[in-house]
Amino acid sequence: MDSKEQSQINTREEVAIRLVQDVVVVVTEMGRAFVYVILGGGVAAGYAALEFVKRGVSQGELCIISEEPVAPYERPALSKGFLLPEGIELVLGTRVKSADVKRKTLLTATGETISYKILIVATGARSLKLEEFGVNGSDAENVCYLRDVADANRLVNVMQSCAGGNAVVIGGGYIGMECAASLVINKTNVTMVFPEAHCMARLFTPKIASYYEDYYKLKGVNFIKGTVLSSFDFDSNGKVTAVNLRDGTKLSTDMVVVGIGIRPNTGLFEGQLTLEKGGIKVNGMLQSSNSSVYAIGDVAAFPVKLFGDTRRLEHVDSARKSARHAVAAILEPEKTGEFDYLPFFYSRVFTLSWQFYGDNVGDVVYYGDMSGSTFGAYWVSKGHLVGSFLEGGTKEEYEAIAKATRLKPEIEDLDELERQGLGFAVKVSQKPPISPPVDVVAAAHPGLLLEKPLYAWHATAGVFFAASIAAFAYFYGRKRRRWF
Ligand SMILES: Cc1cc2nc3c(=O)[nH]c(=O)nc-3n(C[C@H](O)[C@H](O)[C@H](O)COP(=O)(O)OP(=O)(O)OC[C@H]3O[C@@H](n4cnc5c(N)ncnc54)[C@H](O)[C@@H]3O)c2cc1C
Repeated sequence: MDSKEQSQINTREEVAIRLVQDVVVVVTEMGRAFVYVILGGGVAAGYAALEFVKRGVSQGELCIISEEPVAPYERPALSKGFLLPEGIELVLGTRVKSADVKRKTLLTATGETISYKILIVATGARSLKLEEFGVNGSDAENVCYLRDVADANRLVNVMQSCAGGNAVVIGGGYIGMECAASLVINKTNVTMVFPEAHCMARLFTPKIASYYEDYYKLKGVNFIKGTVLSSFDFDSNGKVTAVNLRDGTKLSTDMVVVGIGIRPNTGLFEGQLTLEKGGIKVNGMLQSSNSSVYAIGDVAAFPVKLFGDTRRLEHVDSARKSARHAVAAILEPEKTGEFDYLPFFYSRVFTLSWQFYGDNVGDVVYYGDMSGSTFGAYWVSKGHLVGSFLEGGTKEEYEAIAKATRLKPEIEDLDELERQGLGFAVKVSQKPPISPPVDVVAAAHPGLLLEKPLYAWHATAGVFFAASIAAFAYFYGRKRRRWF
């Protein structure tokens, strides 16, 4: 988008914003109409709604449409705390089946046309199904995926019925690793199968991965790497009884969990909006190629200023922050700069807890004691620190690696960086900022961002995670804090 196009967009946007002030709810002959429509009911949708409420939204101005039958988590606070009193229309259990961005309308599966002045697309992503890789059996009653509340409830039921038995987890990413840990806690024998040479292949180096795999092995998890699922054996009721791998291995099993990746839900907008990196391409204001349509969360491909390229991130922190930024850009464009996001991923399983900031490219420098409980790594590219990983850190140490990564300090000597280890990040993070203070502290720790309007809703990381945690916590009969 060039600057002329951008200024036209801003002008059209200003018109739209003025309309927002004049028109509260426009009820058309076609169906309902709203000034703002958030399409999707997940993490990004919830945070966008929260931001609208914080900044002020009038009765009936805002509508959330979600295919799911529940409000964006956490439902009790959303529905009782601030959503309904502010007059947000929740259209739940309703799939949008087509969108017309020229006419500014959405057509629901129930046949209703909902029109908007500004649309925020927060449709997230869906789990990739085995069938997309030529394997049948996703519908079997003991084959589970994990993306939403319904999946989480189903997974818990299957886990309960298989306690003490065998489970095969297909996939070595977030879902696979976290579900494997949950299954182990449930005293289920777990075999993980994935084609890569090590777990969390997109993020971890082999050395980092080996730390987690060794830990999992001590917990009894069996790893079969470098091969993929080729077929299932079924009993007469259609339940999976064995998993057949391409390398010829047959694994008897009582249940299967599949975590083989996700695909962004862009289908409604293909041919209408510019797509990139599998998602809806947006500018630094989270605005798509159509000025009335914004995209946030997993479905958005946005410019990461720090690295000078466009990325689509599948992480809860980016969903939260892109949601807030989009609403700020919509309501106060003149006061809102470009989204300046520091990529941040994290996980907690068993007693382990890691955080990663930035980018995992370039030379890797390890520090700490990999035989102990605290260690980390830095990534150095083109002479600058671009990524930091830390397992077992304190809140202050995580803040330090975040701040240091955002500052992208020059690194002249990798050996010296290794010698200084975590101390390097701590030292760099304590230096006063040179230029106008960037939002480093906020970027460093999402908890700080959440301090002011701390609605109970913030106690959850999002609908999917909350759903799985709630379900698992219920199942294990104890509260497990993993995301906050
Ligand atoms: C089990 C699990 C564990 C995870 N663990 C981590 C982790 O450890 N760390 C981390 O950073 N991230 C993790 N994530 C990822 C994180 O949860 C996602 O990045 C986040 O949910 C993205 O939010 P979103 O709002 O963009 O999409 P989603 O939360 O997927 O929400 C999309 C919403 O849009 C709705 N929708 C889609 N299409 C339509 C339609 N046509 N009509 C109506 N509604 C529609 C969906 O029903 C859904 O409500 C995990 C995800 C899962 C599932």
